[in-house]
Amino acid sequence: MDDGTEQAGRAPVIAVLGSVNMDLVTTVTRRPEPGETIAGRDFATVPGGKGANQAVAASRSGGRVRFLGAVGTDVFAPRLRETLDAAGVDTGRLRTVDGPSGIATIVVDDSGENSIIVVGGANAAMTELTDDDLAVIAAADVLLCQLELPVPTVAAALRHARANDTLTLLNPSPVRELAPRLWAEVDIAVVNRGEARRLGAVLDGVPHVVTTLGGDGARHRGPDGTRLSVPGFAVPVVDTTGAGDAFTGALAVAWHRGPQDALRWACAAGALATTALGASAAVPDRAAVAALLREELPRSLPEKFE
Ligand code: ADP
Repeated sequence: MDDGTEQAGRAPVIAVLGSVNMDLVTTVTRRPEPGETIAGRDFATVPGGKGANQAVAASRSGGRVRFLGAVGTDVFAPRLRETLDAAGVDTGRLRTVDGPSGIATIVVDDSGENSIIVVGGANAAMTELTDDDLAVIAAADVLLCQLELPVPTVAAALRHARANDTLTLLNPSPVRELAPRLWAEVDIAVVNRGEARRLGAVLDGVPHVVTTLGGDGARHRGPDGTRLSVPGFAVPVVDTTGAGDAFTGALAVAWHRGPQDALRWACAAGALATTALGASAAVPDRAAVAALLREELPRSLPEKFE
């Protein structure tokens, strides 16, 4: 149970099929007008991408994570790979493809408003799965996907998982229209409030729907119509970026304990992820999650994993 260990059995094996990005974050007083050059205040390169963020979260939460995705041949690629390695994610199937890695150019102004340009780069080159990728999916307990890779690739992965009794978890972000037969391959959908609203009735046919509610926690609707809610944890919030990814990765690892325990575990992970700046700076490890669940404050906040 919520002791933060998986000693009762082997750690769940999670195959994550998803994006890897380098976020190039510039802070400015105000964003430039077209044609204008301004001085920025600060700049940081922050490893990201929903796939990579969720893989790191799942690994730190105690899962054995195997990553399926791609980086480019640019200067960012080694650091992106190292970030996954450092978190204990198996990158043996992380491909290198010619050209840039996935890049998100982010400009944040003083009012907190941001503008983001995403270049798919190597992520966009993930147009098919190899036999080795398919073998990883078939051998996993859970396949975890988002929608930052080409949709036909995600669809093929979900189909193969279903055919091999691997549980499928889809975080349909960024939201886009998907063929009904793709939804039919999803066992668990994890959505935030905005995504739940936009997807609406599409989610009705998914056996398990988990909706995250920011500071209010999360709720679950099961196949038999059962519903449960888990309240949020009160933590000193610094930055909520990446909370959803921390929640989703942790949920994939804890799912085998049943929705109630899994949602509590994931809510604790999501809450801890809000306690430091940046999407990847505060992804908690399982000891920190377990400590919060015991309603103690962690002795120290999770260290930066970068
Ligand atoms: P997203 O980041 O995808 O928009 P949410 O904002 O719903 O998703 O956050 C995901 C999860 O992170 C929530 O279910 C909750 O467990 C945790 N979380 C987010 N914001 C807070 C907060 N202010 N306080 C405590 N927990 C939070």
